[in-house]
Amino acid sequence: MAITADTLRTLHRLHEQLADLRHRLARGPKQVVLREQNVKAREADLEEVREAVKQAKLKADRQQLDLKASEQRNVDWNAKLNTCSSNKEFQTLKEQIAAAEMANSVLADEILESLERIDAMGDKVSEAEEAVKATAAELAKVKEQISAAAEVIRGDIARLEAELVDAEKALPVEFRGDYDRVVNVKGADGMSEAEDGVCNGCGQKITPNMQNELLMHRPTFCKSCGRLLYLPE
Ligand SMILES: [Zn+2]
Repeated sequence: MAITADTLRTLHRLHEQLADLRHRLARGPKQVVLREQNVKAREADLEEVREAVKQAKLKADRQQLDLKASEQRNVDWNAKLNTCSSNKEFQTLKEQIAAAEMANSVLADEILESLERIDAMGDKVSEAEEAVKATAAELAKVKEQISAAAEVIRGDIARLEAELVDAEKALPVEFRGDYDRVVNVKGADGMSEAEDGVCNGCGQKITPNMQNELLMHRPTFCKSCGRLLYLPE
């Protein structure tokens, strides 16, 4: 049974092209997953910033309530000044009011700081929202590109598979089992050129006897890696 190097070379080229196309087809969904992870990460960032704003607002609200309560207490204490029965009581209350006013002034400053912080956080929320929008737009774009590319790739695969079926008709029937076994297991890696007495697949030397077999167009497998060998053009 004879198999020309031309036939094997063509088969190997088709297997390699198909492997490349299938690899590209499989890469598409992975790229989409990466973009989806990006969107999720930016959404988590946004959620975090929003939660921080919420907490800061709650804190500012509490501070404002505290201030109001303390101010009301001072109004009451001031009213009580007129009803003091002793000078000592009057002085004590006066000091109490002064201390509370001091504390209120500190609290008022803190409230201002809190409100400024909340203002600044607004920018961060906008930035985070923009980031979510940008990554979502990127995801949509990549999805569209990949789906368009996949359609082309699937067409190419179908065409090459038909070419392969056609090219395989040149194989001797009695050799078909050995060929199927090697390409079914290893795909394009099941075949290799043998150049200058070396298997290109694994880099091992082939024997002079194998070289002769190849020259006589007999099916020859590399003894080291099992690849089906063929001679270069
Ligand atoms: Zn080899």
